[in-house]
Amino acid sequence: MDTSEKTRLLKQIRDEVVTCKKCSLWESRRLPVVGVGSHDAHIMFIGEAPGATEDATGIPFCGKAGHILDELLESVGIKRNDVYICNVIKCRPPNNRDPLPIEKETCVPYLKRQIETISPKIICTLGNHATDFIFKEFGLEKELKGISQIHGKVFDLPDLKIVSLYHPAVATYNPGMKKVLLEDIKILKEFV
Ligand code: URA
Ligand code: SF4
Repeated sequence: MDTSEKTRLLKQIRDEVVTCKKCSLWESRRLPVVGVGSHDAHIMFIGEAPGATEDATGIPFCGKAGHILDELLESVGIKRNDVYICNVIKCRPPNNRDPLPIEKETCVPYLKRQIETISPKIICTLGNHATDFIFKEFGLEKELKGISQIHGKVFDLPDLKIVSLYHPAVATYNPGMKKVLLEDIKILKEFV
């Protein structure tokens, strides 16, 4: 697919998400958070759901967890503009509660279309929710263990590599985890 076609499809997804009322999260959200980055990205980062800062700006990973993600990217020389960043859930759950199964089920078709369109070579999942979804989506359920067991490992599929990282937010409440995140993200160096 050429870039202009990717852009057309991603715009279509954006137009649908910004007016989406398919699950009850639309009632409390301020701005839906669709995704940012290159439509030709080789690497896609997938988080959980928008937090307060993202909800106020419409931009994924722009608050505290986002600053840690930026630091991780910088540490391996990856530019934020060269990757694509989005979430499993596009609207903020009230008080940052965990998304409900029905909310995930309702929202993931958008993410599936984003993945199909961008067609990344590497999907990097951030935290348990994204890891769970992506592993199941790509037939890796047998490999699915807690993030503490699979973080930083590469799972090879014919045209895709999947890497799971701890959610960057862990480093905001457990500063010791920053080291682990910095170590894990080095795995991406060999792919850029
Ligand atoms: N946490 C996420 O999972 N996604 C964001 O966009 C911000 C924080
Ligand atoms: Fe629609 Fe997803 Fe927002 Fe629910 S979370 S309203 S499904 S965009």
